[in-house]
Amino acid sequence: MSYPNGKLSEEKVFKDPVHRYIHVRDKLIWDLIGTPEFQRLRRIRQLGTTYLTFHGAEHSRFNHSLGVYEIIRRIIDDVFQERPEWDDNERLLTLCAALLHDLGHGPFSHAFEKVFHLDHEDFTRAIILGDTQINKILLKMGADFPKKVAEVIAKTYKNKLVVSLISSQIDADRMDYLQRDAYFTGVSYGHFDMERILRVMRPREDQVVFKKSGMHAVEDYIMSRYHMYWQVYFHPVSRSAEVILTKILHRAKQLFQEGYQFKTEPKHFYSLYKEDEKITVADYLKLDESIILFYFQAWMEEEDEVLSDLCNRFVHRNLFQYVEFNPHLQMQQWLELIQLFKKAGIDPDYYLVLDSSSDLPYDFYRPGEEEERLPIHLQMPNGELRELSRESEIVEAISGKRRTDHKLYFPQDFIEDLSSKKKVKEQILEILKKPY
Ligand code: CA
Repeated sequence: MSYPNGKLSEEKVFKDPVHRYIHVRDKLIWDLIGTPEFQRLRRIRQLGTTYLTFHGAEHSRFNHSLGVYEIIRRIIDDVFQERPEWDDNERLLTLCAALLHDLGHGPFSHAFEKVFHLDHEDFTRAIILGDTQINKILLKMGADFPKKVAEVIAKTYKNKLVVSLISSQIDADRMDYLQRDAYFTGVSYGHFDMERILRVMRPREDQVVFKKSGMHAVEDYIMSRYHMYWQVYFHPVSRSAEVILTKILHRAKQLFQEGYQFKTEPKHFYSLYKEDEKITVADYLKLDESIILFYFQAWMEEEDEVLSDLCNRFVHRNLFQYVEFNPHLQMQQWLELIQLFKKAGIDPDYYLVLDSSSDLPYDFYRPGEEEERLPIHLQMPNGELRELSRESEIVEAISGKRRTDHKLYFPQDFIEDLSSKKKVKEQILEILKKPY
């Protein structure tokens, strides 16, 4: 494979707080980093609303994407080099897929995708294959090269070894974000011995396997992930901010569809709000977190009280309070609360929100099931492969066990202010206090 002036005349390095340095020697990679589509990732935070809980968590998808690229580069150039199972013709393809795997993320992606029924993976694909700078650069590698990059990211590429490096239960994506998110949030979970894991990785037919001698480093990685989910990713305060964000986007959409006259027209959202229109890649690329926050700031001044209140809450971090609440066990209380909120004049559609988070820390192979996951395999000294949870008691203890957390979010201040409706107020507080 060739790319005009394949290697840079001098290696470029990015200083990185997690991997110390990120090394770029290929002109192709350097040119991709310089495109507007990739630079946009600087304006999208890796952890969405988490910065409102952990103030250090301001790092971007740009940081993370470079990190995933660097991990893959080390695996290929240092660990896999000269191993007969690795085909070095796949090198640039794998590096491009690593660098570009998050390209299609939108602002506050989780909430954004939920409200507008979008999928960042579709946009990653559309940006790679569409009329973009990224596509022009990839095309120089060959007519079908962009398609191959998209296939690796979509996990449909024929060489499954390449796919498993980018997405599996222990891949470069997860190894980067766990360490990076731990670093920027400042928590003590999330750290594990990546150097050790990289040393024991081996390419084997259609997957990456790990030498048995590195099992404890792999266990440590699984436990880090487990802790990060519950301590950071599902933190109820970040979820509270996300609930408000979701409701702002819903409210603005509803107002737009009702013909409400905005003081600040949601121009960037037009094609998302119109039911019969599909957002173009060019318009999607104009969306980033700076734009979203601009609207939230402006909409604090809107006549519509719900929209302006929710925007005030988000911008000034006056978030919703929460209690444990399981809708399956507390259906009666849920229905009562809706009625009481209506009586109190607080719109339950915007101010009473159930939210559930769940995670499966590690799973062994269950063929044919939804969300099928490839298990982690250890390579025993005699060459035999064993699935990780059969060898590790620690991993076995959490394998296949989904944990779900249900919370109910509401504005405590509104309820406190119900002084003229004392009875309703007491009834609401009574239900919210009751543990299930
Ligand atoms: Ca990622």
